[in-house]
Amino acid sequence: LTVTDLVEHSYSRIHEVEGKVKAFLSLNEDQARAAAKKLDEQSNPERGLLYGLPAGIKDNISTEGLPTTCASKFLANFTAVYDATVMAKLKSAQSITIGKLNMDEFAMGGSNENSGFHLTHNPWNLEHVPGGSSGGSAVSVASGEVYFSLGSDTGGSIRQPAAYCGIVGLKPTYGLVSRYGLVAFASSLDQIGPLTKNVEDSAYVLQAIAGHDPADSTSAKVDIPDYLASLTGDIKGLRIAVPKEYIGKGVDPQVKELVMNALKVLEGLGATWEEVSLPHTEYAVAAYYLLASSEASSNLARFDGVRYGVRTDNADSLIEMYRKSRSEGFGSEVKRRIMLGTYALSSGYYDAYYLKAQKVRTLIKQDFDEVFAKFDVVIGPTAPTTAFKIGTQVDDPLTMYLNDILTIPVNLAGLPAISIPCGFVDGLPVGLQIIGKPLDETTILRTAHAFE
Ligand code: GLN
Repeated sequence: LTVTDLVEHSYSRIHEVEGKVKAFLSLNEDQARAAAKKLDEQSNPERGLLYGLPAGIKDNISTEGLPTTCASKFLANFTAVYDATVMAKLKSAQSITIGKLNMDEFAMGGSNENSGFHLTHNPWNLEHVPGGSSGGSAVSVASGEVYFSLGSDTGGSIRQPAAYCGIVGLKPTYGLVSRYGLVAFASSLDQIGPLTKNVEDSAYVLQAIAGHDPADSTSAKVDIPDYLASLTGDIKGLRIAVPKEYIGKGVDPQVKELVMNALKVLEGLGATWEEVSLPHTEYAVAAYYLLASSEASSNLARFDGVRYGVRTDNADSLIEMYRKSRSEGFGSEVKRRIMLGTYALSSGYYDAYYLKAQKVRTLIKQDFDEVFAKFDVVIGPTAPTTAFKIGTQVDDPLTMYLNDILTIPVNLAGLPAISIPCGFVDGLPVGLQIIGKPLDETTILRTAHAFE
C-alpha cells in the first residue's frame, strides 16, 4: 500500500458520499497528490508519526496556500498566507491534507446550520444535524472520507459533533496545543484537538500536535508524555465522579441509561464510581455566552473590509465601508454574538455582566478542583440528547445554547475531555464524556481506551 493509494482512496470515498453529507468546503487534490507522490518516492524514508494519513482540517485553521474561510462569506475569497503551528506539526508528522471542512461560521454554533455556505448532514441520518461547530470534521471521519481530522472546541465544538456522529473527539487542556494560526473566536476558551475513529488514533494525533509554542503566549511549557504508552487497558482502582447535574433534568432518559450502562462496564474493569455535585453547573451556559461573545466581539473587530476578506462595493465613506462590509459579510449568529459581547463590555455594564461572568467562571473551576481532589475523572454524557433534526432549533438560539450545558463547564475550567461512543438511541449515536484534571490527558485516554 502506498501513500498515493491512501490518498486516492480518500478522494474516491469523498466523490462517493460527499454529495450526501457535504462535509468539505474545499479540496486540496493537486497538492495532496503531489505530497503523496513525494513520500512514495522517498528512498529510505524516515517515517513521521502520521505517515501518509489523509487528514481533514476545520476551515478556521490557517493552511498556507489553501482557503481558510471560517465558513464565513466574509472570508469567501481568503487564502491563508501561513500555516498554523498544528499544520506545521502535521506536515512534519507527514500526514496529508485532503481538504478544508465545513463548520458553523467562526465556530459559533452547534449544528453547522450557521455555515455561510451550506449544511452538513449527519451520516447516520441525513435529516439530522452533524453537531457543531466542527460538524464537517466529525462527518468526514464518521463517513470514512479521511482517517482523522482537526477541529476546535470553545464550548464543546469537538466533543458534541463527535458524540452526534459516533466517533472520538478530544479537547485538550487549555494551552496544550498551540492556537497560533487558529482564527480566534474566544481566545481564553479555544483549543484545537483531534477527531478520530478510535482512541488510539486520538492519542497518535494528540502526540503529533501537542507541545509548547513560543508563538502562542498561552501555550503551556510542559513535557509531553507518551500518550500511546498510556493505553494499557488497565483502569483498576480508577475513581470516577458522576455529577448529578449531568444526569438530571434535561438529559434524555435513554441517553442517561447508556451512560449508566457505560459506568457498569467501567466498574467491571475495576473502577469505582460515586455521585457528586458540581453546584454551579446551572450558571455555566449564561457565563459562557457572555464571556465567549465578549471575546468574540473584540476578536472579530479585525474583519473591517480593509485587511482581510470581502469589501463592500457601494460605500461613500470609510465608516460606511466598515459597516456595509460587516453587514454583508457576517451571518446572523455572528452578528448576534458581536452585539451581545459589545453590550456586555460597554462601560456601565461591564461590572454587571463581564466581571460577574468571570467570577462564575472561577466558581465553576473550583467545583471541579474539589471533585478532582478525590477523584481521577468525571464522567457523564457529552450532550443531553442525540443529534436533532435540521431546522428544528435554528430559530431558537436559547434552546440551541442549552445543548452545550455539559461541554461548556470543561472549557470554562480549561480541562481536558474526550467524547467516545457508548451506544445508540433510535439509530443515532450517543457520546460518553470523560473529563480529566489539567494536563492529565493520559488518564482520560486510558479510561476511554479501556472502555472502547
Ligand atoms: N456551541 C457553542 C457555541 O455556539 C460552542 C462552540 C464552539 O465550541 N466553538 O458557542
